[in-house]
Amino acid sequence: MAIEKIDMDLCNGCRVCVDACPVDVIRFDDGEKKPIIAYKDDCIWCFNCESVCPMDCIEIMPTKARHIPEPYKAGEQW
Ligand code: SF4
Ligand code: SF4
Repeated sequence: MAIEKIDMDLCNGCRVCVDACPVDVIRFDDGEKKPIIAYKDDCIWCFNCESVCPMDCIEIMPTKARHIPEPYKAGEQW
């Protein structure tokens, strides 16, 4: 999963999502006073941004940003 989009019509520019993202996926455009999804592929789908947004304008989709390796299983044949 990954952050998909931010509804700029609803966004009030509070910047809370920028501070909430632990991996700096979301940056802030100081000119537009709006957040930007700058590094979508780095999203770890922690849902922090979505849960803290007071306007409920962040959408996270069930699509993987990048391949997540399967965990090693003991005894598995290679
Ligand atoms: S889901 Fe987590 S990692 Fe992804 S953009 Fe939101 S706060 Fe950042
Ligand atoms: S937390 Fe929501 S309302 Fe605030 S800047 Fe981010 S997307 Fe916009």
